[in-house]
Amino acid sequence: MIPIIYEAYMSKAQKENATRAKMKAEETTDTHVAIFPCPAQGHVSTMLKLAQLLALHGFHITFLNTDFIHHRLHRFGDLEALLQTYPSLQFKTFPDGLPHHHPRSGQSAVDLFQYINLHAKPHIRHILLSQDPGKPKINCFIADGVFGALTIDVAHQVGIPIIHFRTISASCFWTYFCVPNLFQSNQLPITGDEDMDRVITCIPGMENMFRCRDLPSFSRGTGSEIVYALNSLALETRESLQARALILNTFEDLEGSVLSQMRLQFPRVFTIGPLHAHLNTRKESNTETTPSTSCVGEVDRRCMTWLDSQPLKSVIYVSFGSIATMTREKLIEIWYGLVNSKKRFLWVVRPDMVGPKENGDRVPAELEEGTKERGFIVGWAPQEEVLAHKAIGGFLTHSGWNSTLESLAAGVPMICCPSFGDQHVNSRFVSEVCKVGLDMKDVACDRNLVENMVNDLMDHRNEVFLNSAREVALLANRSVSSGGSSYSNLDGLIQYIRSISQEII
Ligand code: UDP
Repeated sequence: MIPIIYEAYMSKAQKENATRAKMKAEETTDTHVAIFPCPAQGHVSTMLKLAQLLALHGFHITFLNTDFIHHRLHRFGDLEALLQTYPSLQFKTFPDGLPHHHPRSGQSAVDLFQYINLHAKPHIRHILLSQDPGKPKINCFIADGVFGALTIDVAHQVGIPIIHFRTISASCFWTYFCVPNLFQSNQLPITGDEDMDRVITCIPGMENMFRCRDLPSFSRGTGSEIVYALNSLALETRESLQARALILNTFEDLEGSVLSQMRLQFPRVFTIGPLHAHLNTRKESNTETTPSTSCVGEVDRRCMTWLDSQPLKSVIYVSFGSIATMTREKLIEIWYGLVNSKKRFLWVVRPDMVGPKENGDRVPAELEEGTKERGFIVGWAPQEEVLAHKAIGGFLTHSGWNSTLESLAAGVPMICCPSFGDQHVNSRFVSEVCKVGLDMKDVACDRNLVENMVNDLMDHRNEVFLNSAREVALLANRSVSSGGSSYSNLDGLIQYIRSISQEII
């Protein structure tokens, strides 16, 4: 034990070591947390980061995966390295009920969601109640709040305290939560001849921030099924009121005003993000690398060598995340835009991102040529590393929340090209609140627009965007450093989990 009296004379590093030693001394090995993410890349990789952070603090972790995701993590992620680094982490799996060749991306992701909601309960219950030799019983359940009712129900049945984790922004979560208020005040539904620039005034903490077009994509459309879908979404979100606490991958300086409104309903919100940066700061040695946790495709590291040979901030990185799909026509328009901008680009084109090639579909020679000169295309990139690379000057993104946070933490300005779900909210947030980029939503994404926006971001307005991006990155990284809000909140979360886990004998 380190005597308190010496603390005043310690360097920052010594103080951090002392805190770690103190935490280790307090460690109990009788806390066993089950973590259940929605079986999709963005959710799995984020909740695996939380699993690693908790394992670092001595908790036993059982991570629940579908067989499909687990198989892919095994194939594309570095599972062996992960298990070696975190011996208190184990995986348990169950079937997702879909045929192996089901795409599980784009529109088809809905099937997966429905199947889990209808059939996963007995599997989850069985895992929560199972007793592993040499480990305590599971005494805390951290579940993806996207399966709100399902997970609350199982937790109540088995009598294990539950905490919800949401992988979306606080702003988006709060928008879903406020849907009933939007109906009551006639701000929803969006009518057939709606002015999409009409300002939404009644979301507490975000008054006047959104226009109709910035609401989650589920708000679009006029039929009774839209009203039903929105109300279901709000109900599912409100299930989190029954969880003991809510964990969000965000930080106080980014979404403070929304968070203070949320806390009037959810007294225990732990903001611990950006999680990828947080995991890096919590690891004892900076030389340790985080094992890859991709369940989408094999990471193509050749792009890092290519980036090493590019000038400072000269490359625009282009990625549309793990599930968004697009037509071949749109892909070609974006490609022309990139090539015509004359900027260097690194582009992730997942094999399942566009439909199958039609007979006669040929890539025009000028695109092949332009790519050879200034571009690099991969099927899957080590995105966090890419965004942190000194050659990256901008990011053309679909505005998924993980990609947004990774870009904000790396100080990289964005062009936002949202397609569904929370992406419309995030793109507004990036362009209007953080002022670190351009929002491309609801405009025809043709080659001229892409070319102009890329040049705007990388040249004409580069200085302004870069300055704002640097400021946000500073706040993000400060939040996960010792003494920062996310750092302290994780310590608070760890204490809280320890205390509620004691309720299970
Ligand atoms: N990602 C990656 N390599 C790629 C493309 C994406 O590692 O080539 C990761 C990215 O870093 C992010 C996640 O995939 O963590 C995508 O999550 P996001 O929430 O941005 O979008 P989603 O895939 O859920 O739509």
